[in-house]
Amino acid sequence: MAEHGCGAIIITCIDYRFQEYINKWIGENFLPGTYDRGAFAGAAKSLDTIVEQVGISAKLHHIKKVVLINHEDCGAYGKEGRIDQHIKDLKKARQRITKQYPIFEIDTFYLKLDGTFEQDF
Ligand SMILES: [Zn+2]
Repeated sequence: MAEHGCGAIIITCIDYRFQEYINKWIGENFLPGTYDRGAFAGAAKSLDTIVEQVGISAKLHHIKKVVLINHEDCGAYGKEGRIDQHIKDLKKARQRITKQYPIFEIDTFYLKLDGTFEQDF
């Protein structure tokens, strides 16, 4: 297998309503072919899965950056999906990934239904 790598992993929810916003945002912020991408229901809510995927991405592709994108009106959160719960989960994910990969840059976002990205929790 040839040595290969990329800079980041971008993790989002699976929700179809947000994919075009996310695609556009990625296009504006990343060069093509420089990131891994994963989608899991609830994004930061699936913390064990995310940590596992970050580990695989780090091992195979030597990433140095993790981007987590939660969103408004997330079905995986249901009634618990208030913004404070999303912020809590994004912070928890940041802490856990930082503990394991102290040098990684971690960007967290809360994507609203209108396509606005709120950053850094
Ligand atoms: Zn969702």
